[in-house]
Parts: sequence; structure tokens; C-alpha cells
Amino acid sequence: MLTYDSCPEELLKTISFKESMECLKWAYKEYGEEIVYACSFGAESSVLLHLISKIKPNARITFIDTSLHFKETYEILNEVKEKYPDFQINSIYTSMSLEDQANQYGENLWERNPNQCCQIRKIEPLKNELKKYKAWISGLRKSQSETRANIEYINMDHKFKTIKICPLIHWNWEEVWMYIKVHDLPYHELHDKGYPSIGCKVCTKPVTGDGDLRSGRWLNHQKTECGLHMD
Ligand code: SF4
Repeated sequence: MLTYDSCPEELLKTISFKESMECLKWAYKEYGEEIVYACSFGAESSVLLHLISKIKPNARITFIDTSLHFKETYEILNEVKEKYPDFQINSIYTSMSLEDQANQYGENLWERNPNQCCQIRKIEPLKNELKKYKAWISGLRKSQSETRANIEYINMDHKFKTIKICPLIHWNWEEVWMYIKVHDLPYHELHDKGYPSIGCKVCTKPVTGDGDLRSGRWLNHQKTECGLHMD
């Protein structure tokens, strides 16, 4: 089994899967029950959930619930549960309530120090969750942003000391939507209201004009990533 400790650099360069399905088939064959998909319920998730359901109908799915999501995010979560009843979907949380966070760090930490807020509400819970698994799946695409241009199907995840599988790296935004429409898949309602990328409601705005797909996240900050995908 390929693990963080046994993954040779050469292997990362030579393994090149042509299709996302091949990538997922390999991942589930390799890791069986020891792989989890960390799902955000954005458009890429709609595609990936559908692909995974063809290969592993009872796959383990985890959702990082920051307690600050849009109500539409919880609605799509419930729709997915109905569409794929065999998926094992688990929401994970930080141990720090919003009230405790405000008491310890002050009100609206996300406005003053979003990195710290993401660390508490997203990164720590996922770090704890990934200790249970040998690998995880993410819906990252190369064309989403410059920071994601170098991701591969199989990645050494130095942050979480694990393996990260990204089956959708070559999909473009149009293909994602074509797939959703062709298969009539449930998708996050806010995509129809100008939100191409959706995170916590206090840090996500609609994108206007020529802004890139993630330009509505953390407006007024240099931050472009929550930190889950940065070593
Ligand atoms: S996206 Fe915003 S509110 Fe959500 S965890 Fe990060 S900083 Fe906090």
C-alpha cells in the first residue's frame, strides 16, 4: 500500500491517469475503507460524488462544518444524503464553539485574522479526522487558481502527512457544469446567484466582472486559500 512514508518521488512522476474514473478506481482499490473524500458541496463535489458513487457506493465522505456555512450548504448536504443513501457522510467540527472563539480571540476573528480562524475551524478538525485514514480525496482542479496549478492526481500531502488524491485536476469549469447538467445532479443553489466558489457565509461574496472563480473569498485580505491545501 502506498502511504506517506513509502511514497517514492519517482512514482509520483510516472503515474499518470488519463481519466478521473481510473484515478478513483485505483484509489479505492489501493485504500479500500482507509480513504475519505473531504467534500465542500460546491460544483466539483457534485461531479465527484457522482463519480465516486459508481465505484464505491458506500464511500466515506466528510464535511468540515465550521458552524458558519450558508443555509444552502446544509440544504445541498441533505439533498446529497437523499440521492446517495449508502454514502457514509460524517460532519466534523472544531471543539471550539463560536462563543468560545469570540471569548478567546475576540468577536469576528475571520475579519481580523482569517488564517487563525481557518486553522481553528477547518484545519484542526480535518487534521484529526485524517488520522483515521491513509489517504484523502479532494476536488481540486488545476485551473481553479494559480495556487492549484501544480497539483497532480496523487500528491504527497506534507501538511497532513498523508496522500491526497485529486481526480478532477484536468476538468475545466465548463466541463464541470456540462457534467452536472447532463446527469441532472443536485448542486449548490448559490452557484446560480453569482457564487462560483462557496465557503463560510461571513467570508464569501458573489463574484462580479472579471474576477476569477475564487475572487469572492476573503475579500479585503491577501488570503486566497483556507490552508487545507497549502504545505
Ligand atoms: S472561511 Fe472564514 S469563517 Fe470560515 S473558517 Fe475560514 S476565516 Fe473562519
